[in-house]
Amino acid sequence: MTYYAYFRPLPPSDRNPAEHLRRRTPGVFRGMAAHWPAVSTWTLAYIASLDPSPLVRLVRGNRENTPTAFTWSELGTYLHHLSEPPRADDELLYLKEFDLLRQFPALRDDLKDIPFLPRGTVTSSSVWIGPARARTGLHQDLLDNCAVQIAGRKRFLLTPPGTVERAGALSTKYDAWARLSRVGIEELAVGRGAGTGDEDFYFVELEPGDVLYVPARWWHEVVNLDASILLSGFFGSRSHVARLWTQVRLRDTLHRSRLLKEGDCTCHPARR
Ligand SMILES: [Zn+2]
Repeated sequence: MTYYAYFRPLPPSDRNPAEHLRRRTPGVFRGMAAHWPAVSTWTLAYIASLDPSPLVRLVRGNRENTPTAFTWSELGTYLHHLSEPPRADDELLYLKEFDLLRQFPALRDDLKDIPFLPRGTVTSSSVWIGPARARTGLHQDLLDNCAVQIAGRKRFLLTPPGTVERAGALSTKYDAWARLSRVGIEELAVGRGAGTGDEDFYFVELEPGDVLYVPARWWHEVVNLDASILLSGFFGSRSHVARLWTQVRLRDTLHRSRLLKEGDCTCHPARR
């Protein structure tokens, strides 16, 4: 299937970023982070050279709509594997939500401000490092997200809040800070008659230095076009994050006590 028959390109934003935040519409800002030292210096080999020894947890396959499974690797071994030419039969292993800046605090100096984050914003950032074809299944995050493409290219497919809900495709699978869809966005687009103007489906391909704003609750599915590094920051006002945090922590305490959605989540291996 050719996704672009059903998806419209998200045009580079010509608006003030603050307007996207106010209207809660996604915006792509080409080259906004191109001057960051991270974009010119962070490569797979460079990160591996800092310290190859930490053990990292890798997600196997697409955990949003297949049973969750993990494996462990030394960081250097994994990054070295990613920097080799991919083979068609490689298992897709994905380093997600990795707290790179806690692992290597000196790397903070390679980041600059994102001009559109409002004052008083609370952020938490982490990186996604994975091979070409690795995918994050269709989901919506509970917080606004600002994604900075550092290396390689990535395709985002997006649809507004409500599309998955109207299709009756919400997943029961548990995730602390996101809600998941049972079906992929391409299947959804075909089923909802995308392209007829009834529903909105968008795509955008990020190059190194590009910045994408994804409003909370916008559904999105993401696929790597190359081995790639993405820095992603969730943000919100102090009061909003505090309110959400209370709800998320309550559910998560139940989940971790095995009282809610045990064995059907993105954070623990699925029962076999
Ligand atoms: Zn879990």
